[in-house]
Amino acid sequence: MTLELDATLVGERVVVVGGGILGTMHAYIALEHGAEVVHLERDHVPMGASVRNFGLVWVSGRAEGRETVLALRARDLWESISMDVPDIRFRANGSFTLLTSDEECEVARRALSRPGSAQRGFDLMNRAEVLMRNPIVKGNFLAGLFCERDAAVESRVALSALRHAMIATGRYTYYSGRELVGLRDGAAVDHRGVVHSGDRVFVCVGASLSGFARELFESEPIRGVRLQMAETEPLGDTLTTSVANGDSFRYYPQFRADALEVLPEQESTSSHYAIQLLMQQRCHGGITIGDTHEGDRPGVFDAPDRPMDIIVGAARQLIGPAMPRIERRWTGVYHQMDPTRSDEVYLRRDVAVGVSIVTGAGGRGMTLAPAIAEESFT
Ligand SMILES: Cc1cc2nc3c(=O)[nH]c(=O)nc-3n(C[C@H](O)[C@H](O)[C@H](O)COP(=O)(O)OP(=O)(O)OC[C@H]3O[C@@H](n4cnc5c(N)ncnc54)[C@H](O)[C@@H]3O)c2cc1C
Repeated sequence: MTLELDATLVGERVVVVGGGILGTMHAYIALEHGAEVVHLERDHVPMGASVRNFGLVWVSGRAEGRETVLALRARDLWESISMDVPDIRFRANGSFTLLTSDEECEVARRALSRPGSAQRGFDLMNRAEVLMRNPIVKGNFLAGLFCERDAAVESRVALSALRHAMIATGRYTYYSGRELVGLRDGAAVDHRGVVHSGDRVFVCVGASLSGFARELFESEPIRGVRLQMAETEPLGDTLTTSVANGDSFRYYPQFRADALEVLPEQESTSSHYAIQLLMQQRCHGGITIGDTHEGDRPGVFDAPDRPMDIIVGAARQLIGPAMPRIERRWTGVYHQMDPTRSDEVYLRRDVAVGVSIVTGAGGRGMTLAPAIAEESFT
């Protein structure tokens, strides 16, 4: 392992519950500090937000201040970890937000003039310059806001790649198919009644909860957000950067105030589902495409066609005729901080002696996970 963190946890035992990216990064960083780690996961293979996401390590739209500092640190950690675990497939591919109107260009120009612009590696490029960097986007756009610091990992394989690296330390034990049903001071209790004791216990169980775990989070200032996603057939060519459209300006804090002032209102379905276009090519060639955002309400289980039709239409507008057919769809849920009740970037709360819950990183949890885990041990 390569992060060269201080050996501050040698002789300590850390218990982590939840095999998503937050739990896995807590396990990874604890091992880097020299601890012994026991890791529990409810499902036989983790199936939560961490395998359903784009794998975007997304710096560009983060709010100035703590959120951007964390995102930049996390990006560096992802890159360092990839030296030791190349199978996470970290790509420093940058991103283009492709601009289709003068109003979107104006929002991009304002972003460029802000102090955080250089840190993110922002550059406003005309259509010809965009095509030089990413020749496959032959659709209808005027210019592109390039963010050099944006990157990507391969989310469907990253968790298992990290687990394999952790097993190689000889200090890591992973139990799949073990559900957390209780907590005590310094211990987690699984559904077989086994008590897993540790000097520190981290509960990173994501947003798809039931029973004991659901009750644990009931009074916290977090809310569930449900997303619709899709993936295309292989493109047969390379999308050299991550790609967003100008609607994404409405939903990222770094751009949001300018977007609300300058851009026209979204049409009603797009506004109802808070639709933006994000695209990330997978290593096998297909493009992960999304997304919608709606409150995760009891009883909502379906994924109507209309929002995804809008997203695919936006993708076709930017990629042009080469845009492949959609091959599969899914939904996913994450926890985000409820802005009416908290201004924290994520939630870490001590719930018993030596026991903390960690969640709430929202649509940036894949990005931030290594930096959040690092903070848990400082
Ligand atoms: C569709 C979608 C797209 C996204 N895109 C991005 C992106 O591109 N970039 C980005 O930065 N972020 C993205 N996010 C956000 C990011 O994926 C999440 O913030 C992050 O994955 C949350 O990680 P987690 O480990 O907390 O949760 P999860 O990945 O949900 O993991 C929680 C794990 O805990 C397990 N668990 C639950 N209950 C128990 C129990 N009682 N006992 C034991 N185990 C339990 C679950 O089985 C699960 O494996 C996206 C999210 C979604 C849904």
